[in-house]
Formats: sequence, C-alpha cells, structure tokens
Amino acid sequence: MKEVKSPRKPLLYYYSIALLIILLFNLLLAPMLSQSRVVEVDYGTFMDMIEEGNIGAVQVEDTQILFTDKEETTVYQTGPMEDPTLTQRLHDAGAEFERVVEQPMSPLLSLLLTVILPILIFIGLGQYMSKKLMEQAGGGKNSMAFGVGKSNAKIYVQSTQGIRFSDVAGEDEAKESLQEIVDYLHNPGKYAEAGASMPKGILLVGPPGTGKTMLAKAVAGESGVPFFSISGSEFVEMFVGMGASKVRDLFRQAKEKAPCIVFIDEIDAIGQKRSSGSGYGGNDEREQTLNQLLTEMDGFEGNTGVIILAATNRPESLDPALTRPGRFDRRVPVELPDLQGREAILKVHAKKIKTAEDVDFHTIARMAAGASGAELANIINEAALRAVRSGRIIVNQADLEESIEVVIAGYQKKNAVLSDQEKRVVAYHEIGHALVAAMQSNSAPVQKITIIPRTSGALGYTMQVETGDKYLMTREEIENKIATYTGGRAAEEVAFGQITTGASNDIEQATKLARAMISRYGMSDQFDMVAMETVNNQYLGGDTSLACSPDTQKEIDRRVVELVKSQHEKARKILEENRAKLDELAGFLYEKETITGEEFMEILRGGEAQ
Ligand code: ADP
Ligand code: ZN
Repeated sequence: MKEVKSPRKPLLYYYSIALLIILLFNLLLAPMLSQSRVVEVDYGTFMDMIEEGNIGAVQVEDTQILFTDKEETTVYQTGPMEDPTLTQRLHDAGAEFERVVEQPMSPLLSLLLTVILPILIFIGLGQYMSKKLMEQAGGGKNSMAFGVGKSNAKIYVQSTQGIRFSDVAGEDEAKESLQEIVDYLHNPGKYAEAGASMPKGILLVGPPGTGKTMLAKAVAGESGVPFFSISGSEFVEMFVGMGASKVRDLFRQAKEKAPCIVFIDEIDAIGQKRSSGSGYGGNDEREQTLNQLLTEMDGFEGNTGVIILAATNRPESLDPALTRPGRFDRRVPVELPDLQGREAILKVHAKKIKTAEDVDFHTIARMAAGASGAELANIINEAALRAVRSGRIIVNQADLEESIEVVIAGYQKKNAVLSDQEKRVVAYHEIGHALVAAMQSNSAPVQKITIIPRTSGALGYTMQVETGDKYLMTREEIENKIATYTGGRAAEEVAFGQITTGASNDIEQATKLARAMISRYGMSDQFDMVAMETVNNQYLGGDTSLACSPDTQKEIDRRVVELVKSQHEKARKILEENRAKLDELAGFLYEKETITGEEFMEILRGGEAQ
C-alpha cells in the first residue's frame, strides 16, 4: 500500500545527539576540572614562593588566598594571614593581581554539570520523542512514556468496497488460491461443520509492484469484511516496546472486528531470521515484536475468522518460526506478469484514460517485457502525461511506446531484465529440459514452463508434476532424470552451438543423482550393493560421508562422470532428432513467455500426427 508517511527520523538519531551532548560536556569540563585541582599549602610555602619569585597570578579573598606558580600549572590555596606587606612583596615578585585565578568548581557543581544535566537532557529528549511518536502513532492524548500500557496504534480500516478480484489483472493462480479464503469468509459455518479450519496466515510472495497489496484488499473486498493493514517497517520504527504492544493492539482490534483481513506488508522487516540480525538494541526490539506476533498467531483458533495475509519478496530470509504450521503455512506466489498478464494489466489501467483507435496493447505488452504491474500502471500514466504535454487528451500508440522507454530505462538497470538473445537462450534451455523429459516415456510430464525471471532468481522455470507420489525409482527412471537435467544445456548446444552458465543448478542436481546411484543405491555394475557413502542425517540436508578407500573414490568419480556424460549424450541425441519440435516449442515459449503442459503436448503431438 502506498501511503504518505510523515518523514520520521530513527530513534537512534536522537540518542546519538544526546550522546554527543554528553561527550561534549565531558570533553570541555574534564580538562577544566583537572586543571583547577587545588593544592593546599601553608602560609610559609606561600612566602617562600614569593621570595623565589615563583608566583604567577594571585587572588586574595577574605577566607582564602588562591595563587599559582610562575608557569601557572598548579593552583595553590592557603589561608589568609594578617600581613600588611603582602601586597608590596607580591608586587616585587612580579605577581599578577588583575587576573582572577580560576575558581575551582565545587564537587557538587561538577557532578551537576557532568552527570545530572546530561541525564536530564537525555530524559527530556526521550520524553519529547515518545510524545512525538505517540502523536504519529495516533491518539497522543494518552500520555504514556516508554511504551508501558495500552498503545494507541492506529490501524487503518479501509473501505475496500472498491477493489475486487476483477481489478487485479492476471495472477490467476494467486486469485484461485485466495478464492478459498473468500469462500470461507462468506460461509464460515460450512467449514466449521466439516471440522475444517482455515489457514491463519498466508504469505504472498513476489517482487514489488506485482499486486500483492491489491490482492489482499481484493480478498477483503470480495468477502465484504474489514481490512486492517500495517507495514512491517512500521512496527520496528516504533519506540522501544511499542512494536510488541502494537501487535497486541492490532490483534485485539482484529478479533473485535472478525471476520476480517489483516494485511502485514513487508513482513520481512520484523520476520527476519532471528539469528542473522546484527547490532543489539534494534534487533531486540524486532525480536520482541516478532515473538509477540508469533504468540498472537498461536493464541487464536483457526475459526475466529481473522485471516492474516502478509507480503514479502524475500521469503527465504524469514524466520522459520513464522512459516511453521499454524502460522504462515500457506504460500501464494505472485510473480511478474507474462505477456498475456501484462496486456491485461495495461488494459485495466487504460480504462482510466482515453486511448486512440490505433493503440495496440499487445505490442506495448511485448515491448515492456519484465515490467511489473506497478510499472505498467506507471507506463499508462506516463503516456497520459505525455499526451497532455503535447496538448491532447487522447493517448496514442506513440505516447505509450515512448513512455515505456521512460519507465523501462528506470527499471532495466535495477531488475536486470533479460536481453532478447538471453530470453531466446533461456527459452531453448527450458524447452530442452521439457522435451527430453517428454520423449523419455518414464519421465513426468511438464505442467508449466515460464521464462519470466522468478523471485528465486531462476531465469526460467519448469514445473514438473509427478503422476502420483513416487517413493521408489527404477534405475532407468533415475537415468532419465539425469538426462532431463542435462537437457537444458544440450538444447543450448544443439540450437546455438555454444553453452552458457545457466545450467549450474542442473549440473549440481545431475551430479548428485549420479553419485547417489553409484555410491548409495547400488545401481552400478562394479560395486553392486556395497555402500560407499552413508547419509548422516536425512533431514538436515543429508550430509554424506565417504566410507571407502581413496582408490574406490577415484573409481566412483570416474563412474559419475561417465554416467552423466552418457545421459548428456542421450539428451543431445533426443533433441537433435526432434530439432523441428525444439525450434517450434522454444519459439512459442519465447513469444508467449509461458507454456502450459497442454499447449506443450499439443505442439508436440501436432507434429507426430502429420
Ligand atoms: P505490491 O504490494 O506487490 O508491491 P501493489 O499491490 O501495491 O504491489 O501494486 C501497486 C500498483 O501496481 C497497484 O496499485 C496497481 O495500480 C498496479 N498493479 C500491480 N499489479 C497489478 C495487477 N495485477 N493488475 C492491475 N494493477 C496492478
Ligand atoms: Zn536448466
């Protein structure tokens, strides 16, 4: 949600100012105090020093005489005496009368200045800050320092009548997943009767500007329930202790208004892995807030009707405690739109402007490859502005095309959108995997392939769906799987005669499988059923340790290479034999950016029939 926030300086800023003041005080006062250390001497010493001419400044008072030596390094003090000739003698010794010897500070005063005053300033500043934060957070009337007691956190309850699923273009899969929530909120009784409880938390995962906030609002809009929204960063900007109490307050309000939707944007701001934090104070605050959130989520039953949606684009950075069952245990990917999605988003936003007859959104969508929904909305707006600038109210194709450049120039650098040639290579690579998989009878069919860069960082993505759960795999199936892994690289070789770095993950996977076949599954002719490696812990990443001689290890390595090589060879052969299909499918994927399993099989079978 884009809301105008008043610029807020972090608390740390104010604390450092206070610290600076203290430092300054000590820096200025410390030398002054040490300098005015007073040495008490008797009157005789005073007279001796006068005799020696070792006298600097002198100050005669009723109760004491303060004086310094010639170099004025030390201040001496002595009691006054009846001594009428003192003035004359001092004068002869060259003492200065005019200058007042600096009065040493009384210990009380120095304590006041160096300790108490800074503390007062510190407290005053803290009070002022807490009051300001209170005001920013809402209420402000409730005078409450240091976050004790009930917080006045403002929770935005918005009328979401406006936003429906139909306003969110594309993102059909996300909408489908969320439809269940809408259904539940419409008819909670049905679910209660069946004994089913809704997930409490749903994580919307995807890059910025892909419509996560919109989707959350649309769920509330479709269900006709209140919508509470807060950003994760708002929790941690709070004064110490405020984050946790704000969470408490949020849930209290939500439970009162149930059924309702609570949306937490940028949940990574509070939900980061607890161990990975740096620094001390701020981290503590974040942890407290996170713990409170976890406690609240555990504290209510699944059927209270409070559904929490949270958005993040870095799901891997979240604390595992957050994604545990009963918390944010459901994940809905909200990825960048493909060609069709982009066209739909453009059309949704174009409804707000007047467009000329000649406008072709398909072309615009094609040109704006890699753009997010927010960027597409921006392109439309930019085009309207351009039209106005040239004295028109109707937006034409040229306006749109030029505004793509304005908007894209901004994001191309930060998103590293694929170049045309890269896109082509990725299309061939992904089709390579799928084609090799499909041509080997035992491989699972592909469900969907896309070449939209994913949140995970992968450039392309092949979704294979195993038909039924597989616990046992035959030797042939594993070999085919290895061939499928090598299929991406093989397609690059077949189509372009050169290879790229895009296959690094495939290589890792293929090697792992090949090694496991030989050293753990007993699927090689040489070693039969002798275990060469043992898995230390199945559940913690499955570290393996070798249990064989160095010679055998060498032999295993040789066998692994041989196995992968032969499967790579097989994959290349399959692709060469089906070169026409490879080109056709890769061309389709390049154009559409997404290909479903049905489309894939249609094209594949289409050729066989002819
Ligand atoms: P996120 O929460 O994922 O960062 P938002 O939901 O705040 O993204 O989207 C920002 C803006 O981008 C929206 O207000 C809307 O104008 C536009 N937008 C993004 N995705 C879509 C979409 N799928 N359909 C229509 N508009 C979209
Ligand atoms: Zn690959």
